[in-house]
Amino acid sequence: MAKNVDRIKKNKIKDKTKSTWLTFFYVGENEGAFSEDARRVFIINLFATVGVLFTLPLGLSSLYEGKVILGVVLIFIAFLYSMNHVYLRYTHNHSMSGNFVIYPLYILMVYLIYTGGVHGTGHVWIYCLPAVALFLHGLKRGLIELGLFTLVLVIVMFFMDSHFVESGYHPALKSRILFSFFVVIFLSAIYEYSMSRSNQELKETTAKLKLVANTDELTELLNRRGMMQRLEGTTYTSYHLLLADVDFFKRINDEYGHDVGDYALAELGRIIQKPLPKGGLVSRWGGEEFLVAVCDCTELDAFNLAESIRQKVEEHEFVYLDQKFRMTLSFGVATMNEFTSLRETITLADNRLYSAKRAGRNQTRRR
Ligand code: GH3
Ligand code: MG
Ligand code: MG
Repeated sequence: MAKNVDRIKKNKIKDKTKSTWLTFFYVGENEGAFSEDARRVFIINLFATVGVLFTLPLGLSSLYEGKVILGVVLIFIAFLYSMNHVYLRYTHNHSMSGNFVIYPLYILMVYLIYTGGVHGTGHVWIYCLPAVALFLHGLKRGLIELGLFTLVLVIVMFFMDSHFVESGYHPALKSRILFSFFVVIFLSAIYEYSMSRSNQELKETTAKLKLVANTDELTELLNRRGMMQRLEGTTYTSYHLLLADVDFFKRINDEYGHDVGDYALAELGRIIQKPLPKGGLVSRWGGEEFLVAVCDCTELDAFNLAESIRQKVEEHEFVYLDQKFRMTLSFGVATMNEFTSLRETITLADNRLYSAKRAGRNQTRRR
């Protein structure tokens, strides 16, 4: 029992530490941790922190070993990367922050290659560049920048024999540095390419799934879920709902068959959609019910729109193979405003539709 309590306490402390770390790296944005932007902020922050953890001790050790310029440069970069965290925290601008990370890194690497770093070991750090550059700037821009960096690398190593590097770079070492750097660029580019491809595919699949989830297959209109999402997400504080139901639709199915019923519903969807004003929405609300939403107009305009659709449907001859038939619609109209919630408006429209049915069908009710 006591052991269990201990374990729970330990787990709580662990969770708290984990969440503190996450908040630090997400700069307080870990609720949106699954968004692309939050992921970038997280990785840039993580990279900058690792950068500080490396450059600061190396800078201090360089100072200790008497390499004052190198030491100052490394400590300055550690300071820059720490400031980057502050910048991210206040602006969340990960694209600018990425530049703060990568360009000083390029400069530091050129400097390390030129001076040789501590005991000629400076070049070992250049291999961290490709992964960071490609992640921050993407495949195309990353490769261009790495290409330019390689050019500078060649110039510095082959044409500017540095007097800092004791007895210079051995010719075999220069070519090995270059070739191994190419290999790392190549591998990182393949990785970045496959990552961005699968990210793209994931985005496209998510968009397709969203569309499918919110669309009615038969009429290709919004379905109930899609319509609710749009209505709940709208910035309009007032709009009108027109709820339509086909009169005696069962008879169409019974007389002509289910396929003809399906065709009639799809055709109805097209007829209802046609006269919709800009910003108007239409959905298949249920079996043979359609919900229309219009804004930027008066209640009378909404009523007139319902009436004009009702008349069009009444006048329309539905033709499917050799079958010809007519249908009528009943409408209930209600207005959503600061006094009536969306749910209440839907109920009002439904009640009015019901009274249109009771009053004999093929009519519109707004009271
Ligand atoms: P009223 O609304 O005027 O009272 O009569 P109704 O006959 O339209 O009423 P009811 O709501 O009872 O019937 C609706 C019918 O719509 C029943 C159902 O079989 C049919 N239906 C619902 N969804 C579909 C569909 O996707 N395709 C076809 N063909 N029929 C459908
Ligand atoms: Mg009906
Ligand atoms: Mg119905």
